[in-house]
Amino acid sequence: MAIERTLSIIKPDAVAKNVIGQIVSRFEAAGLKVAAARMVQLSRLEAEQFYAVHKERPFFKDLVDFMISGPVFVQVLEGENAILKNRELMGATDPKKAAAGTIRADFADSIDANAVHGSDATETAAVEVAFFFPALDVYSR
Ligand code: UDP
Repeated sequence: MAIERTLSIIKPDAVAKNVIGQIVSRFEAAGLKVAAARMVQLSRLEAEQFYAVHKERPFFKDLVDFMISGPVFVQVLEGENAILKNRELMGATDPKKAAAGTIRADFADSIDANAVHGSDATETAAVEVAFFFPALDVYSR
């Protein structure tokens, strides 16, 4: 199985709930390693750039407003099948549809304030990791 890197964001709602550690623990318990991490207050422009793929969607402005409403905790997770594994740990976008025991089922309030982001494919993971972290700041171990 391939060792992958993926970008994880703990969104402003989960940061405000003070559950960063609980969420990171789930990644670690599943065998993923934190290869880089930092707290960031995104600017409007940065949030718009990060979510540019959604710019024509009706929820785009609300999504950007939400993502800049407070600091986020961004991290690179590394491990076997990290991209899919992270998505499975996160659960469905809408917490009402997320499987029991997933991060969104346990910590998210709504489809917009849904606790976490995770890259959805190899190409997006590479772009999203590079958006936040210079290559020299990501540590395989
Ligand atoms: N989103 C929203 N309303 C929707 C769909 C998505 O507010 O109807 C937000 C939500 O925060 C989601 C993000 O836009 O996490 C990106 O949507 P995507 O479909 O890529 O979901 P994800 O990959 O985060 O599960």
